[in-house]
Amino acid sequence: MKNISKTIIITGSNKGIGYTTLKRISSRNPKFNFIMAVRSIENGEKALSELSQSVEGIKERVKIAQLDISDSKSIDNFVEWVSKNYGKVDALINNAGMAFKGDAFGADVVATTFKTNYYGTIELTEKMKNLINDNGKIVIIGSSAGKLSRLTSEELKNRFTDPNLTKEGLDLLAKEFYDRVVDNTYLEKGWPRNSYGMSKLCINTYARLLGKDEEILKRNIQVYVCCPGWCRTDMAGPNAPLSADDGAITPTYLIELPWEINKDLQGQFFYECKVASL
Ligand code: NAP
Repeated sequence: MKNISKTIIITGSNKGIGYTTLKRISSRNPKFNFIMAVRSIENGEKALSELSQSVEGIKERVKIAQLDISDSKSIDNFVEWVSKNYGKVDALINNAGMAFKGDAFGADVVATTFKTNYYGTIELTEKMKNLINDNGKIVIIGSSAGKLSRLTSEELKNRFTDPNLTKEGLDLLAKEFYDRVVDNTYLEKGWPRNSYGMSKLCINTYARLLGKDEEILKRNIQVYVCCPGWCRTDMAGPNAPLSADDGAITPTYLIELPWEINKDLQGQFFYECKVASL
């Protein structure tokens, strides 16, 4: 492991779990190089300076690039930059995510949350797919907040777990949640009053579908989604039981798995470095 060289993109790696994941993977794998994909280059530079205090030589192994996954133009510029400067990379860690504070809820909250956590994450992944080397990896930081138990309708649960569910079908489920919030029938239809949880249920489910994608399988690309645990970051606040460093353990575990598909693990949801049910 220590001698192989890989290039890994981590989105939202200027702080929180993205940052600690960069720190953990880079300190354990001295030959790995990284692309810190961040909304603000200035914040990325500050974070990299801080990281250089604990990981020797890290500045030579990291390039910072601008990326806002809620903005298609930014995604296109980023993908073009990766293509021009690297050709291909070995792994994409989709960490960037957002949550409204408190119990903010409503159509605008759902639309904004899904724009980053679901649509933006998928748009980046789909546009990056061809730039990931054969035998590479796609890791999504999902969440246990996106479990099926959030749904009170058995019919909805069945639709999410349907083995024949397609990406288009999943998009319809995401759209249906939004529509039921707009017409205020979401509770009676079995959806919860939780935009973050639903965006994560959708992205957790997307990983399962992407893991079965013909092209992905043909190219031996591993796909995983994980919950890092409830960690003290700007998103989760100071009362969470785990540190931001703890949150890096499962994403690092997935990146350090052998670089070949294991059929039992492909597309699965991981918690505490183990496959868990959604
Ligand atoms: P955080 O400290 O708030 O960090 C979020 C990171 O995502 C920041 O770098 C942020 O950039 C970036 N980001 C947000 N929106 C973005 C966008 N549209 N485009 C690009 N980057 C964007 O949160 P965190 O707790 O580390 O969360 C990281 C991931 O873990 C998220 O996907 C989150 O849902 C997931 N997660 C966290 C917990 C937890 O307990 N903390 C639990 C389960 C899952 P800026 O600095 O520019 O805002």
